[in-house]
Amino acid sequence: MKRILVSSCFLGEKVRYDGKSKSLINDTLLLWKKQKQLISFCPEVAGGLSVPRQPAEIQQNNGLIITCDGEDVSRQFIKGAQRALDICQQHDIHFALLKESSPSCGSTTIYDGSFQN
Ligand code: SF4
Repeated sequence: MKRILVSSCFLGEKVRYDGKSKSLINDTLLLWKKQKQLISFCPEVAGGLSVPRQPAEIQQNNGLIITCDGEDVSRQFIKGAQRALDICQQHDIHFALLKESSPSCGSTTIYDGSFQN
C-alpha cells in the first residue's frame, strides 16, 4: 500500500508553535486514515523543538532559521528535515500533504524572515 506523509497539524495534532492544530479533516483524509495510508509527521517536533515554541522563519540573507526572539534553531530544523527524508525513504513515500507557509512544511511559499507575515 502506498503511504502518504501528512503534516501532523492537519490531522488535528496540537504541534504548531502556538500549541494549536490546523485541522484539515475531510472525508478523503478520514478514509485514508482509516485505511492506515497516512503517516503523520511534524518535522519541527521531530527535530527536537517543544510545543509551544517561538515562531521561526528562514532568513533570506543567510539561510539560517531564527526565532522571533533571535534564537538560531537551524540545527533542529535540519534534523527534522533529515528525519522526514529518512521516513520517506523507509516507507517508499512518493506523496505528501504539507502545510503551506511553514518554514518546515511549506513547499511553494514561506515567510521571508522578517516576521512581517
Ligand atoms: S512543522 Fe509542519 S507539521 Fe509541524 S506544526 Fe508546522 S506545519 Fe504543522
